Amino acid sequence: MLENVEPLFAAAIFALGLCFGSFLNVCIYRLPLGKSVVTPRSACPHCGDLIPLYHNLPVLSWLILRGKCRACKQPISPRYLVIELLTGLLFLGCYTHFGLTLAMLKCIVLGYLLLGLVFTDAETKLLPDAMTLPGLALGILFSLVVPVNDLASRIMPGLVSTALRGEISWRLWSLSDSLLGAAVGASFLYGAAAIYLRARGVEGMGFGDVKLMALIGAFLGTKLTVLTIFAASLAGSLFGLSTVLAVWMKRTRRSQARGSASSDARRRAWHSARLALRYYEMPFGVFLGSMALLSFLFGNCVLHWYWSAL
Ligand SMILES: [Zn+2]
Repeated sequence: MLENVEPLFAAAIFALGLCFGSFLNVCIYRLPLGKSVVTPRSACPHCGDLIPLYHNLPVLSWLILRGKCRACKQPISPRYLVIELLTGLLFLGCYTHFGLTLAMLKCIVLGYLLLGLVFTDAETKLLPDAMTLPGLALGILFSLVVPVNDLASRIMPGLVSTALRGEISWRLWSLSDSLLGAAVGASFLYGAAAIYLRARGVEGMGFGDVKLMALIGAFLGTKLTVLTIFAASLAGSLFGLSTVLAVWMKRTRRSQARGSASSDARRRAWHSARLALRYYEMPFGVFLGSMALLSFLFGNCVLHWYWSAL
């Protein structure tokens, strides 16, 4: 795995990742506002000061300016630094893992899209179509050059090779898995969103999550899409539960400090915890996106281990 890694080339890939991360920051800020990501030049959101090209260096500029605008000294979100570093690591990680292959490119594209979507969802609770729809198309296209379900062909090599001979049928197999993954992912989320709306009367998951899940399904194929939904639901539930628990404990402690009777305090704390549960809007896209990336990288290992443990 690592013997084919060229150190100089790896450094170049990492630097390229930092630059792409810089552009991703622009997308995260502008796409939810419906602005163009090409023009005008970047400016400070507080004072409108145009950022000169020599301050557009990824990571370095943020460190040199110590995270503050050079004109108005308002803080610049550390998210800029985090995104740039994560994108750099994504590029480097994919290169060292896959080498210079189409699989590397596919993983980079998926990771890049998911990074952008996860951070946009966390900040604005929006999943812009400008990211999800081209992403869906890319996922379907990639299935034609990188096999989506390579575990299926590993477990059943005889079946796949006898039933589907030659290059073209391999691509057809992969394409159908990608399309089915997109359909399964989208319809599951659509169903969940409808049930959620019925049960709670507030829109917890929007149409953006449905499109995000279609994108994930197209890249991952059917099996890993199901794994992603399962893992994201689990992570989301645990997060929601711990949020409610945290509210409940904080309120109980606060009213006990005020000297209320503890049964009364507990009752009132329970009431605010229920309110929190009702009105808390979970950015479910954050869980879907991060679990999708983990499933893409480790899902087959996890499933293999699970099956062999049974
Ligand atoms: Zn400023």
